[in-house]
Amino acid sequence: MPLDKKTISDINSKLKNNEVDIVSSQEACCVFCRSHFSAREVSDWNTSDTEVTALCPRCGMPAVLGDATGYLLSHEELREANLSIYGLDFMKTHPDAMYTYLERYFGGKISKKKGNEDLAIRYLEMLEEQEEPEAAFRLGLLYAGGADFLKPDLHEAHKHLSRKCLWGDPGALTHRGFIGMLLADEDSKHEKKMREEAFMDFCKAAALGGTMARIFISDCYYHGMGVKQDTYLGMQILYTLFAEQYPWFYASRGSDARDIGAICFRIGNSYESEGDYEGALHFYLIADLAFRFQKESDPDSFLFFGEKDELEKRLEEVARHQGYKTADPIFDESTFYASFQYGDEAPFVKANPDGLPKHFLDAVYNEDESTISFTMCGSKQAPLIIDTQSLFCDFVEGPIRWTFSGVEMAKYVRAGHFDTVKGTFKDCIILSGEKNEERYDPMTVFFYETDAPSEEETEEEKEEIKKEGPKKPLA
Ligand SMILES: [Zn+2]
Repeated sequence: MPLDKKTISDINSKLKNNEVDIVSSQEACCVFCRSHFSAREVSDWNTSDTEVTALCPRCGMPAVLGDATGYLLSHEELREANLSIYGLDFMKTHPDAMYTYLERYFGGKISKKKGNEDLAIRYLEMLEEQEEPEAAFRLGLLYAGGADFLKPDLHEAHKHLSRKCLWGDPGALTHRGFIGMLLADEDSKHEKKMREEAFMDFCKAAALGGTMARIFISDCYYHGMGVKQDTYLGMQILYTLFAEQYPWFYASRGSDARDIGAICFRIGNSYESEGDYEGALHFYLIADLAFRFQKESDPDSFLFFGEKDELEKRLEEVARHQGYKTADPIFDESTFYASFQYGDEAPFVKANPDGLPKHFLDAVYNEDESTISFTMCGSKQAPLIIDTQSLFCDFVEGPIRWTFSGVEMAKYVRAGHFDTVKGTFKDCIILSGEKNEERYDPMTVFFYETDAPSEEETEEEKEEIKKEGPKKPLA
């Protein structure tokens, strides 16, 4: 016998705040996913101050009906109740119910089955019809990257990201521009127009505060896509972004990676194309670290999916070219330089003055071997150590013992009073501090560079420096 309206309404009211019903039931069923199970299987509850509601052990929805309510529904009755309570007509007017399902489905709490995924997509489409921006964006991402059962479809993705409700959304505009560029690759007839439109998408997104969009604008200028080529401007945009974001990356010990991976990957690329493999590795290693911190759930992950693979390849190739292998870092002067003063104007120091170690202990200067060893400590945070030769880049905790070779002279002077010595940073180190009976007091290391060019610098290189171009210093 079909269930009447009153019965349906009664069943619906018993799905909420039903703790007493469920604990005193033997059998139970779920009006949402239409499954039967023992009431003892219910172990998850939605609890608030006003209600305790059972969650289905199969699908996770708050739709459990226990037999203690007096209802023991047959399969046919369950189907009927399901269509009456959770039919599309009901859902259309109850967006919160759709959101509950979506949250649980994409949160991995509902089993990954084609039927469940189809339902999630159907709900997203219904929400999108109501111009819900979140749903339209979600659909765009789903079609861009594909899902468990959904094949990627860039045209479809572009369509969803073009919904009116997303016109002012920087994330959606960035993704639409990115997908627009991919579609332009395959459409020689409309390529030019599509690229120009994609470039405009990036500009709009950047104007709305999207930083990934600024990275893509730099790509557009660098490669001349959708806009007149201007490699200088392309690099300048990247260096500006680096100076903005690196301090956050450093201060958060990588957990706030933002777009540092994408930025460093590109800077590394430009170094590599100029034949500066050491510089390329330096930035590739930072990019690799930053990408490792990026979460899979990051809504931007579609944008650098290809980049992570490409980075791996570039890293491997450049490391092989240089003959470097993965190893523990060696704390020598080149690592120190790479970690704290890399670049012509020490951009890392400028970008992050707190990252620069200032105190050193237990310095031992060996005049015969021209080495000096000291322990670095007391910096406010674990420093980011970069040793390209060991392909190492990570934040290192605790005191670090450094050994520099080729040290011509070292002086220890009380803090606040220090001498200067002539030489380049490699052969000159001045420490301030004073030896007491057991050990040296905290000291400060100063690197001192004379105006005289180092012997390694050729005439050709000096010419190169004079030439105009994007300034390497990333400050
Ligand atoms: Zn269920």
